[in-house]
Amino acid sequence: MASPVCLIIIDGLRHDTAIDECGYLMAAVEAKQARVWQMQSCLPTISAPLYETIHTGLAPIEHGILSNEAIRPSNKPNVFSALKAAGKTTGAVAHSYYHTLYGGSPFDPFEHTEINDPAAPVPYARYYSMEGYSKVNPALPSETDLCAQTWHLAQTHKPDYLLLHSSSCDSLGHYYTSNSAEYRHQAWRADNALSRLIPRLRDAGYDVLVTADHGMNEDGHHAGNQPGLRAVPFFVFSERFKAPESETLDQKAIAPTILSLVGIPLPETMKAVPLI
Ligand SMILES: [Zn+2]
Repeated sequence: MASPVCLIIIDGLRHDTAIDECGYLMAAVEAKQARVWQMQSCLPTISAPLYETIHTGLAPIEHGILSNEAIRPSNKPNVFSALKAAGKTTGAVAHSYYHTLYGGSPFDPFEHTEINDPAAPVPYARYYSMEGYSKVNPALPSETDLCAQTWHLAQTHKPDYLLLHSSSCDSLGHYYTSNSAEYRHQAWRADNALSRLIPRLRDAGYDVLVTADHGMNEDGHHAGNQPGLRAVPFFVFSERFKAPESETLDQKAIAPTILSLVGIPLPETMKAVPLI
């Protein structure tokens, strides 16, 4: 059995904030359309290292990207490269870091904002940079626009693996901290936009996973080992997951789970047991 998979990463979304604020996702859980687990993110709780962890199944200390400033192309077997090698198609709507990791060249917004090339490492992609924005001018990509782009890729190209990565919770968490109306409101904004995307993806046959790379703390920071940084949500819209909801899941299991859902063999480096 094989199904296409959409992974949605809400950057910087704490587990407790997701449970409290994400009314659509929790409605889906109550209605038994979805299940939710707590997941333990790896260390350090920093974005680029954990994007690579989510896609390689390796801890940052193993894959070697340990800070955002040290970001470089992935040199380990990862979800995008494994699917490419198996003749499958991938797509992404994501921050430009993902192009640096998996796109095959340094990111240039004038070259790589939109990619439609079956031969490319990630054939169908829409990247955003957020270059030059700050607390005084936090012009974030709209959650709705990102969801609409994701749906466009799903409809047009039917990628076997489709990534949607939204940065806005992380940005507002940095600007206003995890204990702020702005951060909590943005968690709901993401949830509200997903209520228009996920039912469409489900109707199109996708299994959908919603998680975060790391949480956020009351200093408006993340990198360390605090519970609020390590506990992230893991929502699943799929009939194929087996773990009891009381279990805390391992972030390193995401990559082998995606490949198992799509139905291709796992690279030897992905040692965590798939969740299906
Ligand atoms: Zn992040």
